[in-house]
Amino acid sequence: MKRSYIPQPRSHFLRITCECGNVQEVFSHATTNVVCRVCGKTLAEPSGGIAKIYGSVIEVLD
Ligand SMILES: [Zn+2]
Repeated sequence: MKRSYIPQPRSHFLRITCECGNVQEVFSHATTNVVCRVCGKTLAEPSGGIAKIYGSVIEVLD
């Protein structure tokens, strides 16, 4: 068996709850800082691939 495909990290949207209670959708491979639109806290930070997520992921969306 030969594996000729290159594995691609799948990107998707994550539904995240901020500690203030705001629910916001964040791209899993965000390339810019994503801040909570209510309290301004950083929810995601770029890290060269999958973004660093701060907050609780409650759902993964395609
Ligand atoms: Zn917040």
